[in-house]
Amino acid sequence: METARDRCVIVHYHEISLKRGNRPLFLRRLQQNLVRALEDLGAPRVTQLTGRILLEPRPGADPEVVVERLRHVFGLANLALAERTGTSLEELKRGVDRVTQGRTFASFRITARRAFKTLPHTSVELNRELGAHVLGRHATRVDLEQSELNIHVEVLPGQAFVYGDRRPGPGGLPVGVSGTVAALLSGGIDSPVAAWRLMKRGCRVVFVHFHSVPYLPDDSIRKARDLAERLTRWQYYSRLYLVPFGEIQRSVVLAVPGPARVVIYRRLMMRIAEALGRRAGAAALVTGDSLGQVASQTLQNLACIEGAAGLPVLRPLIGMDKLEITAQAQVLGTFETSIEPDADCCTLFVPKHPGTRVSREEAAAMEARLDVAALVAQGVEGAREETIAFPAGCGPFPAKENREARAAGSRPR
Ligand code: ATP
Ligand code: MG
Repeated sequence: METARDRCVIVHYHEISLKRGNRPLFLRRLQQNLVRALEDLGAPRVTQLTGRILLEPRPGADPEVVVERLRHVFGLANLALAERTGTSLEELKRGVDRVTQGRTFASFRITARRAFKTLPHTSVELNRELGAHVLGRHATRVDLEQSELNIHVEVLPGQAFVYGDRRPGPGGLPVGVSGTVAALLSGGIDSPVAAWRLMKRGCRVVFVHFHSVPYLPDDSIRKARDLAERLTRWQYYSRLYLVPFGEIQRSVVLAVPGPARVVIYRRLMMRIAEALGRRAGAAALVTGDSLGQVASQTLQNLACIEGAAGLPVLRPLIGMDKLEITAQAQVLGTFETSIEPDADCCTLFVPKHPGTRVSREEAAAMEARLDVAALVAQGVEGAREETIAFPAGCGPFPAKENREARAAGSRPR
């Protein structure tokens, strides 16, 4: 008799993106992430098949919730809810019936695959027998090239899986395989999208937010926390550093003329984010800069800001325009939070006309009037660390896995 356990998920990843050397790390991390994504529903059983993974969620886990979770697991090309059956022809037919029942489809094909060639029935025989079975029950036709419904049949020793539609996964690389980065997360539209782009390339992202409490209300903190929470469902566990920046800005205002201030603020942010990021093993910084969008984002200013960082600065949105970034933020679900009004720290003590060309020499001259090391230490020591877990209540990844990810980030690939 069919039970809840008979519903499984088959997930595929893009093998093409796998170089031989990092395949084991990729697969190990993908499996860990799959288990973690479903942890609160009861750890699923995970079986590695050739080029794909079989997931058996715990009985009682709502299949739609499972699918929704898996659609946020980077590294998956696609996924499908599958019916488990026995391997006899009769059982396979019943599996096909379960997949097709209640559906109309103008055309279909059977795509049978056997894990072991010693199994009874060749793939060709299965395609033919099961195809004839479908034709006997549905008003439809076979179309091998452009079928409306492709019925996949995967036969393993002792059991088989039948599934119809594959749903697209998010693509990318499993979070953790590319190491750790620290993202400067404002409450704006751009930086959450930038952080997400790096997660998609396999990075674990540590968030650093600069706020001006008590000079300004704490709206920006609440927004940053909310954004970090939304992004955490893609990486399961996040650290968010909240850095009090108002006092530091005041020191800058006293020593630096208006036009250069934004650049000096940003250079200090870079240094503080670097120090906090390094603690968490970050090998790069990430910002939401898009070329020319605001005064701090001219080539000259970007170069000047970057000069303060001792880690590479990644800017995944640099060539995107606001409309493209906004569309991505809407899909991601961060847009609504990002547009809530707040008084970002950058609105504090900022002149009407920030300079668009601050050279490194000018920046150095301005900073000579400040005790930069003390300001950075002030930011780092004042930072408050919060942690966010998804699913709620789950802990961080074990230290061993984090070390492994760190090593991956520093290894040439
Ligand atoms: P965003 O929408 O991400 O705020 P923006 O277009 O408003 O970007 P800026 O405000 O100039 O541009 O910020 C450029 C980048 O600097 C941001 O994308 C972010 O990475 C970083 N940044 C700016 N303000 C903060 C902040 N308060 N805390 C953390 N990072 C910040
Ligand atoms: Mg901003």
